[in-house]
Amino acid sequence: MLKTHTCGELRPEHAGQTVTLAGWVNRRRDQGGIIFIDLRDRWGVTQATIDAEKAPEAHKIGAEVGREYVIQITGTVIPRPAGMVNPNLATGGIEIDVQTIRILNAAKTPPFMMDGESKVDESLRLKYRYLDLRRQHMQRNILLRGAVTKFIRDYLYERGFVEIETPILFKTTPEGARDYLVPSRVHPGKFYALPQSPQQLKQLLMVAGYEKYFQIARCFRDEDQRGDRQPEFTQLDMEMSFVEREDILNLIEGLMTSLVEYVAPMAGCELVTKPFPRMTLAEAMLKYGSDKPDLRYGLEITDITDLVANAGFKAFADNAAAGNPTRALCIPGCGNYSRKQLSDLEEMAKAAGGRGLAWIALGEGEGGEVKSPIGKFFTPEQMAAILDKVGAKPGDLVLMSSDKVATVCAVLDALRREFGARLGYADPKKIAFGWVIDFPLFDWNPDEKRWDPSHHLFTAPMPEDIPLLDTDPGRVRGQQYDLACNGYEVAGGSIRIHDRALQEKIFGLIGLDVEDAKGRFGHMLEAFEYGTPPHGGIAPGIDRLVMLLAGEPNIREVIAFPKSQQAADLMAGAPSEADAHQLEELHIRIAIKE
Ligand code: ASP
Repeated sequence: MLKTHTCGELRPEHAGQTVTLAGWVNRRRDQGGIIFIDLRDRWGVTQATIDAEKAPEAHKIGAEVGREYVIQITGTVIPRPAGMVNPNLATGGIEIDVQTIRILNAAKTPPFMMDGESKVDESLRLKYRYLDLRRQHMQRNILLRGAVTKFIRDYLYERGFVEIETPILFKTTPEGARDYLVPSRVHPGKFYALPQSPQQLKQLLMVAGYEKYFQIARCFRDEDQRGDRQPEFTQLDMEMSFVEREDILNLIEGLMTSLVEYVAPMAGCELVTKPFPRMTLAEAMLKYGSDKPDLRYGLEITDITDLVANAGFKAFADNAAAGNPTRALCIPGCGNYSRKQLSDLEEMAKAAGGRGLAWIALGEGEGGEVKSPIGKFFTPEQMAAILDKVGAKPGDLVLMSSDKVATVCAVLDALRREFGARLGYADPKKIAFGWVIDFPLFDWNPDEKRWDPSHHLFTAPMPEDIPLLDTDPGRVRGQQYDLACNGYEVAGGSIRIHDRALQEKIFGLIGLDVEDAKGRFGHMLEAFEYGTPPHGGIAPGIDRLVMLLAGEPNIREVIAFPKSQQAADLMAGAPSEADAHQLEELHIRIAIKE
């Protein structure tokens, strides 16, 4: 090794030892006779001092090195005098009195500072990702991610799981997104699809008898980019045989609880839900307007349809008569909002799909003035009943949405998230998990006039709902569960179908005809005839999970080499054109209209 110690390792008890360190020049200060170098490696920063009188040769070289030079120093560990100790540095109790210094490699001036404080444009960070990754906050995230996957592996191995790799070049395994296709050279005109998840393969591993499988698996989905999506992302993919829903929920709850507790000192986060609350999808939509509620705070939605159905405000009453809800969110302490602030909230409601936003503002103190543009349509008793039901106190602001149920949920979800952040409730240090269960098996697709699986095609219906498949498919519940964390879906899974006839029936309902189903999933149907055990699984998203543990705003911050928002790798320049010879071998002709 070119070093005897790391740059994070030396303490006063090493005083007097001769050591060799190697790393990057984090900072250099030249104070005439003495040069100070902060030397950095993965483990930390150590201060080196080069005295012109004691080590003239080293001092000459020290004067030449610039930021990010790679150097090796040899010197003696000396304790710093009491007043000079740097409490912000783990190695702050010592410094190295340098005897020799060797430049291992020079560095151009980097395009941005490594100090972690300066704000750098993201495209520049992605172009020079190898430099960005040197920065402290990225190092922390990447090392945290490594700790998370290692913890998961250990936890699952201790519980009898085995990690099995599955192919990347495969056949479409749909999860509701577009596939990435890879042309075959050997089979002209044919394509592999990159798996959207190892779904079918893990189920086939259950048929094969492995019983407890997991994989830290890469998944590929060609969908539009968002802060919590990437074209390729990582899942903890899991499947178990002979299990029921409870077994999987308990296993994951135990894993996530232990994981957060394990990384808490490193990540500075804290688990606030013990045990994880459970709610049906219907409850989640009613209380939070979302299928992935942020449970770090209350701010629950209240249904007030019954109170407005027979009152004088026609828009609400008409909506109630049409079977649509009116729901409200009571925001503490915001009753003094200005017209401008209220109209900004209305814009937010419109951006979420609403037609407008009704409000009631309560003045400070008992008997304070109650202001509302729709106040005159309600009797004092009706108004009091609304305020009572939503739990409004003096000084509060009540926001109301009345529309189709999906719109009301979208509007109040958006406002709830906004106020969660605005009022400081959505503390990034807090981690709040919650289970959402009892999803419908299908969603109606009005464009294609057919049922779409709400999770994926292999999810089993609730046994008691199976007869409804023939009569009322929209009412069939799936044995599906989602894990929400801080307003994100961090895992989804289900108990699977393990019976050919039932699987064929589901294919039929989602509009796959027999031949089509056989062509695409014949191997699954066939496997189901060779003794398939009851099985189920789940797949927590590693990127989102680490993002939340690290308190980061998007998953690019916890992926070493992410794609940009436009699905491009800005460092290597991918995707890029292929040369004519490659295309010919792949039997591909480019037909882009200029
Ligand atoms: N394959 C599913 C997904 O990627 C997860 C599962 O059902 O296990 O969302």
